[in-house]
Amino acid sequence: MQDALSTLKKVLILEIKKNYSNTALVGGLQRFLEFLDHSDLDKSLGKKQVEYIRNLFTIYPSIPHQKRKEEIEKILNLLNSNLENANNHLRKNTNQPYQDPSLFSDIKVIWGIGEKNSRIFNKLGIFSIYDLLKYFPRKYQDYSKLKPINQLNYGEEISVIGTISQELHTRKSKRGNLKITETTISDGTGSLRITWFNQPYIANQLSRGMSIVVSGKIDVYLGLLVMNNPDWEHLDSEQLHTNRIVPIYPLTAGITQRQIRKVIHHNLNIWSSKILEYFSEEVISRNQLPPINFALNQINFPEKSETLEIAKRRFAFEEIFFLQLGVLVQKRNWIKKEAEIFKISDKELNQSIESLPFQLTEAQLKAIDQVLINLKSGTPMNRLLQGDVGSGKTVVARFAIETVIMNNAQVAIMTPTSILADQHYQTFTSMFVNDGIIRSDEIALLLGSTPKKEKELILDRLSSGEIKIVVGTHALIEDPVEFCNLGLAVIDEQHRFGVHQRNQLHKKGHSPHLLVMTATPIPRSLALTVYGDLDISIIDEMPEGRKFIKTMILHPDDRKRAYDLIRQQLNAGFQAFIIYPLVESSDDFEFTSAVNESKRLQDEVFPNFKIGLLHGRLSPTEKDLVMELFRAEEFNILVSTTVVEVGVDIPKATVALIEGANRYGLAQLHQIRGRVGRNQEDAYCILIPENEEAVENERLEAMVSTNDGFFLADLDLKQRGPGEFLGTRQSGFIGFKYASVTDLPLIENCRKEVINILANDPFLHKNENLLLNQELCYYWPELK
Ligand code: ADP
Ligand code: MG
Repeated sequence: MQDALSTLKKVLILEIKKNYSNTALVGGLQRFLEFLDHSDLDKSLGKKQVEYIRNLFTIYPSIPHQKRKEEIEKILNLLNSNLENANNHLRKNTNQPYQDPSLFSDIKVIWGIGEKNSRIFNKLGIFSIYDLLKYFPRKYQDYSKLKPINQLNYGEEISVIGTISQELHTRKSKRGNLKITETTISDGTGSLRITWFNQPYIANQLSRGMSIVVSGKIDVYLGLLVMNNPDWEHLDSEQLHTNRIVPIYPLTAGITQRQIRKVIHHNLNIWSSKILEYFSEEVISRNQLPPINFALNQINFPEKSETLEIAKRRFAFEEIFFLQLGVLVQKRNWIKKEAEIFKISDKELNQSIESLPFQLTEAQLKAIDQVLINLKSGTPMNRLLQGDVGSGKTVVARFAIETVIMNNAQVAIMTPTSILADQHYQTFTSMFVNDGIIRSDEIALLLGSTPKKEKELILDRLSSGEIKIVVGTHALIEDPVEFCNLGLAVIDEQHRFGVHQRNQLHKKGHSPHLLVMTATPIPRSLALTVYGDLDISIIDEMPEGRKFIKTMILHPDDRKRAYDLIRQQLNAGFQAFIIYPLVESSDDFEFTSAVNESKRLQDEVFPNFKIGLLHGRLSPTEKDLVMELFRAEEFNILVSTTVVEVGVDIPKATVALIEGANRYGLAQLHQIRGRVGRNQEDAYCILIPENEEAVENERLEAMVSTNDGFFLADLDLKQRGPGEFLGTRQSGFIGFKYASVTDLPLIENCRKEVINILANDPFLHKNENLLLNQELCYYWPELK
């Protein structure tokens, strides 16, 4: 069999060498027809394809040069993949460590998919045969129920088998805008009227006497049962589109359900039995998973709903399993590097702790301890410090920073906004300079807006090592910043930073320690999956004396009550935030609403108080100035768009009024609320939805019911899905189709399996894990 393939291949190659002049054989390629007829090529290539080659050779003399070239290349591709296959079978023994390489060949080698079609498949993300086999349905249509015609009921979705009892004919609808093709099928128990709209070509495909299967919904027309626009198939063909649970695939222009089903079905037939199981027997049996071949067949063309469920369970497991394996392998790559060792003596540590104006909470002490252990471990810290707004994360970072600069290395502190960078710059300046740990010229603020001359000076002094601490926005990674000896990078409010940016910063040092701080509480399920490459410290305790922030929803008409409360707080010497929503795609609106409102508030509502205004149109310098004045209590009220959402610390603020509250997500509302209640005083958060209808709002009610950021984050995750987390984290990762990211038992199970495997074979180099490694790289190409 292989000989015939090779002979054919030789002839074709010779024809290429002869520049498609039809001279590879004396008398032309037509001479090869006889050989084709007597070979058993159809066994390896299939009847249809041999027939195709026959036709080509017959018409070869009459087709133009370019067409000859295309056709020969196509056939060669096909032969090559078949030869490779055959060779693999010879080579194959019981313990093949990798999948058959032809699985990863371009879909163009698939019979019937040419250059043009392949581009359509590419649009669906299908490039290789393997991609095609892993292209799963978006949903299913259950046409598996089959009934005789006399038992049909109105409204059911069902399949019916019958013989066409009336010649098909097509007419125009009364208004002339529809082409209606009609017929009747009978099955001995009765007959059923069938109608197709705007598919006149069906009349050429079907005729009286043929047996067909139709699947669709039973309707009533003029008192008779009918089926409109059913899917149909010949009874003697293998049924893909009717009489079964039918897969519905995501499509794009240029391809139909019928076409894609056929291609996938055909290739599953060829390939599914050849795909090797990548999970070990133990993993399969412990988790009661079906084998990969069965699962692939059932997820595409399920026999019944039970087997479909079994297949879905396997792929749900796979999704979570490979996500976790991916992040843990990433972590493994990270910690195999060496990092500088930074230590602080107990005496110095205690002195610093005692110099604080407050007592650290147990949770803070524990986090500090975990951080210091990492810093002296010799492997790079990769830690996420997670704590609700106001829980005191900054002071934990302080000890990490102090330890590193005392050891003569440098620290970079990165924030998402310049307001926050400025705030940290001030906090750390007063912390370290006042305590005599550094001089004031050893800490610098570097923003996108820093004047060029000043920036150059800072860059110089960073690369010479004179500057010990630099605080900045993403300018820190964008500009050609060079460090002399970067020992630690601290990233505040992590959810605004993707992995990509973290890596870029990481590249600035050999392998600096990394401390990522976030106030967005990350539910445990995500901590194990999406954030699984980070060690996590949780500050789950508020500093003593913090009060519950009283949160209330006011009707828009009751706004006056909110103003009364604010006035009362201002009279008592406190400050207030009034926040207006940022309206998408309409900067102007945002601008005018904050600006106009602040004017109105100043003139009409709070004439005796000073109001500051902050919005996206201000330059970073202007924003910093406004914040500084607010912090210095030059303003009593800050009117702002959501730029203050993140991290801003104004201890004297006790009220936050949020206008248009229904427009925000839960996490954002919680963040804004966290701007108040940062001292021992009573604090208030007032939510005013933009209209009366929005008053009853589940999210706003959740805000009223609890101050617990973890609870709110979980709720947020359940309501909105993990898109935001996944989106910013794993660019290559497409998200879950079958698994739920809140399915904690499944997540924990997978985690155990993954840890188990990595413990025995950290680099997945052992023979038994090579297939698994290959599959991992398929999910995570960047790990190759
Ligand atoms: P966040 O975790 O939101 O970043 P910060 O680090 O900004 O919180 O701390 C919030 C406020 O609480 C700051 O003014 C800080 O000085 C203060 N603080 C931090 N830890 C304590 C503590 N243990 N006791 C009292 N106040 C604290
Ligand atoms: Mg903070």
